Amino acid sequence: MTFVTRFAPSPTGPLHLGHAYSAMLAHDMARAENGNFLLRIEDIDQSRARTHWENQIYDDLRWLGVTWDGPVIRQSENTAAYSHALDILWDKGLLYQCDCKRRDILDAAQAPQEGAPAHGPDGLIYPGTCRHTHPRIGPRPETVALRLDLSAAIAQIETPLTYSETGKNDGQIQVTNPMQTIGDIVLARRDMGTSYHLSVVVDDAAQGVTHIIRGADLAEATGIHVVLQHLLDLPTPIYQHHRLIRDDAGKRLAKRDDARAISKYRAEGAKPNDIRQMVGLPPAP
Ligand code: GLU
Repeated sequence: MTFVTRFAPSPTGPLHLGHAYSAMLAHDMARAENGNFLLRIEDIDQSRARTHWENQIYDDLRWLGVTWDGPVIRQSENTAAYSHALDILWDKGLLYQCDCKRRDILDAAQAPQEGAPAHGPDGLIYPGTCRHTHPRIGPRPETVALRLDLSAAIAQIETPLTYSETGKNDGQIQVTNPMQTIGDIVLARRDMGTSYHLSVVVDDAAQGVTHIIRGADLAEATGIHVVLQHLLDLPTPIYQHHRLIRDDAGKRLAKRDDARAISKYRAEGAKPNDIRQMVGLPPAP
């Protein structure tokens, strides 16, 4: 089986050292395995995606010596595939319309009988307010937020919810207590008609990705991705969640962290191998 991995940046800001590490690590592994390295632009949030950031990504990656195989996929051009996946889940009776605002969720989660509010991959675990307020029959409603009814979804899954993580005993990791750690996640946002979790799962499968190499900040999201792979009958790739690159104060780098932008190091005369050294990678072969 050919090793296929990908780098999937969102064009909403400059590439910084953390992105460069992720891209170079995945790229080095693909080249060492004689596999494929794909580039996918995750631009479903059209209110934040910008063409100039996308162009800067291409330019910075080329400069770093990161080359990709095949055409670049842009998620904004793939919305039909996400709609199709939502239809499958809707037809299984697993999606429901949610009208809650952020404030409603916070209030409900903080109600005294709820105990301390729990957090999942998207922030507060949804307290289930809208779970039974809208009918789940007829055509799938559009331009509304749709959540996954997680306990109903899990009841429909017959195979064990596990995945392999390289470096972690190469063993099977179990998705544990999904209702407490994930909850009813939004799969279609009102403004986008999809979500990060849904599109990433659909695209990784469509692109034949065998290995997902990404930051430890996304490890929490893997549980919901595995649930979606089971529901949509898609294969589960092998995961590797790498350490995060932090600033001098130990904080992980954010998109707005222009001080660590690759373009800034370039402008100051750094060479690609200097960047590799900064993130702890050996010089380019
Ligand atoms: N688009 C995501 C990001 O920029 C990465 C998605 C992934 O690797 O699964 O953080």
